[in-house]
Amino acid sequence: MKLRSGIIVFIIVTSLFTVLGQDVKNQVTAFVNVNVIPMDRELILKDQIVVVRDRRIAEIGAANSIKVPSSALRIDGRGKFLIPGLFDMHTHLFSDGKFPDSLAGDELKIMLANGVTTIRLMIGTPELLKMRADVAKGDLLGPAMYVASPEFAGRSYGDPFNGYVVTTPDEASAAVKKAKDAGYDFIKLTIDISSPVYEAVIEAAREAGIRVVGHVDLRVGLQRALAAGQQIEHLDSYMEAVLKDDSPIKASVSDSGVWRKANWESLDYIDERKVAEVSLATARAGIYTCPTLTFFKLSFAVEQSDDAIRARPDYRFFPLKMRESRHAARLRFWTSPPTLERREKYIRTRNQIVKGIHEAGGKIMAGSDTPELFLLYGYTLHRELQSLVEAGLKPFAALEAATRNPAEFLKIFGEAGTIERGKRADLILLEANPLDDISNTEKRAGVMARGRWMPEAELKKMLDEIAPRFQAVSTPDK
Ligand SMILES: [Zn+2]
Repeated sequence: MKLRSGIIVFIIVTSLFTVLGQDVKNQVTAFVNVNVIPMDRELILKDQIVVVRDRRIAEIGAANSIKVPSSALRIDGRGKFLIPGLFDMHTHLFSDGKFPDSLAGDELKIMLANGVTTIRLMIGTPELLKMRADVAKGDLLGPAMYVASPEFAGRSYGDPFNGYVVTTPDEASAAVKKAKDAGYDFIKLTIDISSPVYEAVIEAAREAGIRVVGHVDLRVGLQRALAAGQQIEHLDSYMEAVLKDDSPIKASVSDSGVWRKANWESLDYIDERKVAEVSLATARAGIYTCPTLTFFKLSFAVEQSDDAIRARPDYRFFPLKMRESRHAARLRFWTSPPTLERREKYIRTRNQIVKGIHEAGGKIMAGSDTPELFLLYGYTLHRELQSLVEAGLKPFAALEAATRNPAEFLKIFGEAGTIERGKRADLILLEANPLDDISNTEKRAGVMARGRWMPEAELKKMLDEIAPRFQAVSTPDK
């Protein structure tokens, strides 16, 4: 994708756009007699009217205190629950890589259909920066986008490699400046980052005024990352940090270590005291944690049959030509998986850390880390909310991880993250109360993105149209 000339990319990307048109700008919409879960505190405002005008929440109040303009599109909210649109804080697109650019618009629509109205794309490309601007202008239908830099890594991998190879402090500082100048929102670290390179990245990013996010190399270690204030993905390096001092194995199952069967033996040497300590240290460091629990749990710890995977609602979006190789990759791991006991301990330990961070006052953010291994964006974000509850968070706290916490982290809390007057009209109308059961976030009556109302029937139709296009795509796997 990045090899094409800017002009061609511009034409292709432009042709994908669904122009929202002026109608949304002037449209007034009112949710009537609805239960509002504003997420500014844990409560439900019953029998409310929420008026949306010019893509923003114009008014909110008790049904008997607000007059609905006669021109408004009225949405009956009786028995339903209105929550803020959700954030997926760790996602990717198929079209970031070798998949056709023509998929990109559909990818964003799948997210919207799942109520995801803001995303952070964790490995950036120039095309994503263009899409970010077009969504912001209202020219492209999609979630509001934040785009991390191409990856910072100690070596090139993947073909083509989309990143900056940084092996010396000088290379690292130069790359930070480049990424900042290109307009990326964050510096994204991935693999093979040495300690001197890490220090240079942190220093250069501080000077440039850009935040550092992503993986934590074992040579860097958790303590240094916490001290640097890095925002850590996947609980990277935590599984090593909680091993007993006398553990005969130092390598554990963070990040790509999870593929190495020998590393799973380390699960027998977890120091419970350290689990509590690292959770507390994380909360004290004031960093936001995006654990991506679901992706790791479903890929490496919970055994699932191929039939169960085929029955997932997101399976139909995986290209037919990709499925065989993806099933084969799964089988390579699951032919001789780690013992059930170790896999359960893996889930339990990661859950304990997340719960510990939350209870110590730290902030958790929900992220899907998809598309990967038959887990698709949008759908997996809802599974992540369920995983956070399974980890011990209350449904309200799980929802915070996908609404107000990311809005605070992205420094857009004045714009999004709660249902309050003046904020962006990114909303989800639910058929049932998600504070009773977090899986109710999947019972949607419709989604509003920047004031544009899309009832569930329209969204279902949109997904039905998109799925065959994904199935037909030819893939780099084959
Ligand atoms: Zn990722």
